[in-house]
Amino acid sequence: MIFSQNKYKKILKQIKKYDQIVIARHVGPDPDALGSSLGLKQIIKDNFKGKDIYVIGNPAAKFSYLGTLDKLPENMNNKKVLLIVTDTPDRRRVDGVDPKNFPNSIKIDHHPFMEKTCKMEWIDEDASSASQMILEFAIEEGLFISKEAAEKLYIGIVADTNRFLFKYTTSKTFYLVSELLKKANINITELYDKLYARDYREIKFKGYIAENFTITENHTGYIIIKDEILKKYGVDAATPGNVVSDFNHINEMLIWMTATEDKELGSYRISVRSRGPIINETVSKFGGGGHIYASGARLKSEEEIIKLAQALDKEALEYTKQKS
Ligand code: AMP
Repeated sequence: MIFSQNKYKKILKQIKKYDQIVIARHVGPDPDALGSSLGLKQIIKDNFKGKDIYVIGNPAAKFSYLGTLDKLPENMNNKKVLLIVTDTPDRRRVDGVDPKNFPNSIKIDHHPFMEKTCKMEWIDEDASSASQMILEFAIEEGLFISKEAAEKLYIGIVADTNRFLFKYTTSKTFYLVSELLKKANINITELYDKLYARDYREIKFKGYIAENFTITENHTGYIIIKDEILKKYGVDAATPGNVVSDFNHINEMLIWMTATEDKELGSYRISVRSRGPIINETVSKFGGGGHIYASGARLKSEEEIIKLAQALDKEALEYTKQKS
């Protein structure tokens, strides 16, 4: 890592230097990816006038309340642009641009390190979310945090910590959120309504998942969800990933996984969660990645899914042995 304790200053220096800034995040965005990138744009806009800032990547209709995304101007000269990538550990999963094409770039991320993709990298694996890191940067540098910026960052933090439930929630998280609430007058219950409102069909679909987990004696749960089931419930291939964390704290499952057929891409979207065993190393062996307790991957076949479930099951067994 290039950064020492001066990381905030170094980031600020680069932001001040450029009139054009592109902000990108990972494919298949979640509220933290969107909250961190759109929140950062808002902070830059509010504090430094006259810059052109583009937050790019495919939109996610479900999270459109977080703000709109931008199109890059044609014939943009990347040499005159600062690229900032939030919430994305690897090049392959940056949505919309290739960091290789930008001479100056900064990564701000809370995933375990995968590869160097940007010229400067600030990686904090202990941060609950990329949104928390953007907030930390803004507070440390004494930047103005508007209501609009605060809302985006708050949603990102709340979503990635599952309302301050997950282990990555630390005293720093609470300190930064407390500062955020003091500085910006946001209505958190209204924000929860946006984040947690869902159609009844999604609740019924969650019922289907709950009914159909295969659970091993070592406490691994998994379910393969075919396209016809998605159609039956009127949901899409992203939905299981949005609800998988809700199956936490079930006595019979230490690790649980949804494998969802994505007909369009001809593969399965894998979401894995854990409340103890470390899963990201196993998931990486299958071409995926993520956090120690929340990982994802893309797999081609049901055979591979079963192999992954078996490998995760070994982790669950090891974990239980070590604990006893
Ligand atoms: P998800 O289950 O989609 O919410 O993803 C959980 C975590 O795994 C997130 O931090 C993602 O960035 C990461 N992740 C999801 N899919 C992949 C993938 N195909 N390759 C690498 N990491 C992934």
